[in-house]
Amino acid sequence: MNIILLGPPGAGKGTQASRLVKDHAMVQLSTGDMLRAAVKAETPVGLEAKAVMEAGELVSDDIVTRLIDDELTQIGPVRGVIFDGYPRTAAQAESLEGLLAKHGRKLDHVIELEVDEDALVDRITGRFTCAKCGEGYHDRYKLPRTPTLCDVCGSDQFKRRADDNEATVRQRMAEYRAKTAPILPFYEARGLVKRVDGMAPIAEVSAGIETILAG
Ligand code: ADP
Ligand code: AMP
Repeated sequence: MNIILLGPPGAGKGTQASRLVKDHAMVQLSTGDMLRAAVKAETPVGLEAKAVMEAGELVSDDIVTRLIDDELTQIGPVRGVIFDGYPRTAAQAESLEGLLAKHGRKLDHVIELEVDEDALVDRITGRFTCAKCGEGYHDRYKLPRTPTLCDVCGSDQFKRRADDNEATVRQRMAEYRAKTAPILPFYEARGLVKRVDGMAPIAEVSAGIETILAG
């Protein structure tokens, strides 16, 4: 099973991907996570991407395509993949077709998380993650069970993303509207697009995705 999770920043793609990883032993391929790791490690890709990401703009198609190609090579053909935050442009969607063929995979679903844009700033500015294991949380919608400790690994260290501020979020939403939303018709024409109400509570969104995967 290979699926794309599509939706604007803060729609809940990472939250749902990490649940799918746990419940279905799939692999989450988040280009955002890969790029943040490259920035942190100060690799050539990271040095090129840093300012672009801080501005809320899109990194070049060539860079993200190469990252995905390398990851698919490492994963091999067996485990299912969740593409999270990729593809984000028509050029990336086209490249993905070639990569899927190269790696012997086929796309099963493109799941669009439908969200109300006004809620996204609130979602993004309240977002934080465990610094050790990466589990995602929110100041109001998903607090750890013990307030200062990660539910998954018990760490007391949390972090917030440099680009999770209101000004950058608005730019990222504009990028989504201008460059990412237009790729939906490409998948719609092939009957791959399924929609889930991303404004529902996290568990309900998960249930909606399960129904699609079972169908
Ligand atoms: P994305 O990966 O699409 O940018 P995230 O999965 O990181 O979005 O979610 C953004 C923030 O919103 C996180 O803090 C997450 O805990 C929270 N969140 C995700 N889904 C929901 C939901 N259905 N309802 C309320 N908050 C949510
Ligand atoms: P995300 O973690 O998906 O919110 O992505 C954070 C930032 O990384 C984005 O605002 C972009 O600057 C960059 N990025 C992530 N994925 C892509 C992609 N597929 N194409 C271009 N830029 C990307």
